[in-house]
Amino acid sequence: MTSRVAVIGAGPSGLSQLHAFEEARKKGAEVPELVCFEKQSDWGGLWNYSWRTGLDEFGEPAHGSMYRFLWSNGPKECLEFADYTFEEHFGKAIPSFPPREVLADYILGRAKKNDVRRFIRFSTAVRWVSYDPATEQFTVTVEDLTGNETRREVFDHVIVATGHFSVPNVPHYEGFESFPGRILHSHDFRDAREFAGQDVLVMGSSYSAEDLALQSKKYGAKSVTISYRTAPMDFKWPQGIDEVPQLVKLDGDVAHFKDGSTRRIDSIVLCTGYKHHFPFVADELRLRTKNVLYPANLYKGVFWLDNPKLMYLGMQDQFYTMTLFDAEAWYARDHVLGRVSLPSREEMSADIDKWVERESTLTDDAGMIDFQADHVAELLADVDYPKFDLDLTRKLFRDWEHDKQESITGYRDRGFPSPCTGTEAPIHHTPWWEAMDDSLETFLNTPKQS
Ligand code: FAD
Ligand code: NAP
Repeated sequence: MTSRVAVIGAGPSGLSQLHAFEEARKKGAEVPELVCFEKQSDWGGLWNYSWRTGLDEFGEPAHGSMYRFLWSNGPKECLEFADYTFEEHFGKAIPSFPPREVLADYILGRAKKNDVRRFIRFSTAVRWVSYDPATEQFTVTVEDLTGNETRREVFDHVIVATGHFSVPNVPHYEGFESFPGRILHSHDFRDAREFAGQDVLVMGSSYSAEDLALQSKKYGAKSVTISYRTAPMDFKWPQGIDEVPQLVKLDGDVAHFKDGSTRRIDSIVLCTGYKHHFPFVADELRLRTKNVLYPANLYKGVFWLDNPKLMYLGMQDQFYTMTLFDAEAWYARDHVLGRVSLPSREEMSADIDKWVERESTLTDDAGMIDFQADHVAELLADVDYPKFDLDLTRKLFRDWEHDKQESITGYRDRGFPSPCTGTEAPIHHTPWWEAMDDSLETFLNTPKQS
């Protein structure tokens, strides 16, 4: 009987997986039957932008966390598919920090080229995954959300690619219940223009806090106060944005911070991160982790230690994104195809411990970037992913970090060389801080002089 593989989720990670199998099939490999379950009605995962918050059209928790006017926060060269370059997709070199619509177009471009859509069952939510040691197979219970029909299917391997930036971590602070304005999590942030003219409090000190503070100011907020819990980001913020220590409480619309300072505010955006949340996976198979670079229990960052027939993709905190997902997908594929063999449980466990221990010693972004690059390099060493200059991407990430320190509003106004083709990216025609129109058409074409 043909072996069967379930891929859960048709976001970038799931699409990398389908693509990896398809590449092997095109080169003559006999591949198993692939079934990808996607709860949304279209593909792209977080890149499948939706205005919806709360519940989607099926009454499921809305998956999307992206917002209008989101531009890549890292250089696109550090996420370029080695087998499908930006130049191939757009027919020319494009600037290094594209807006959301442009990146989505690129990611889906490769998926369309290999026609992996045919493997995906849309509007189908996975409700439960369990394993029977007697048959050595998984039972996957799915619900067809359009027909409200639940059914079970049996698989030999299961690959969980459901992402981990969709279930918000929502803390409570004293006074939230009587605050007269809006309190929302970054998961529900869609359009920065909503905050025009307001004094906004942004809580958190990571990527969402940084980007939503800038967005809000760029699109007209009167002031943005960023409240950090552990350490400030310490960028050279533009006028109207500054950082204060952790919130202690709210008294009506007045926020009190740890340093004794107070500010009146209109709205609060909780940029307090996300939870890894897999309620559809049986207890003994369920990944439980914080947002780290090397979750425990995943050998090579992919294989469930107690049962490597179960794999997780893209579960790391991410400097590398598409490149990491491809490397993981290629490795997972080759495990399924029997091309790579995994060592004993003890050896896998010791290897995980080594990486987890190394992560605990990291103190700065440069170390974290190298750590994740080493992880990608280790995966790529064993698979036939096309060659590209991974070491160049380490350097680009370091330059990017440096640029952010120099100018948090200007770091996107720079072009980097491609690690796949060597082509230098052109500088975008409009500085990011002044570029209000984020459409694909405007991004790709130099505006005519009036
Ligand atoms: P997702 O994109 O989350 O896709 C997971 C898919 O699984 C979804 O389609 C979902 O519907 C489906 N799914 C979930 N549960 C089920 C279920 N039970 N049954 C069936 N299907 C299910 N990365 C970058 O490279 N550049 C950026 O600029 C960038 N910006 C970001 C901005 C924000 C605000 C956030 C939150 C993340 C950003 N990222 C960015 C990182 C992002 O994690 C990756 O780009 C990418 O989307 C991760 O892909 P994924 O497939 O692992 O997960
Ligand atoms: P994150 O990196 O996990 O950061 C979570 C933040 O929340 C941390 O600063 C943490 O502070 C803070 N926090 C957690 N609990 C808190 C509490 N109880 N009180 C106060 N602060 C609390 O999550 P994220 O910033 O949402 O980023 C998620 C992903 O989205 C990243 O991969 C990022 O690249 C992506 N993203 C991309 C873009 C873009 O491309 N333009 C924009 C936004 C986000 P401590 O440091 O104190 O723990």
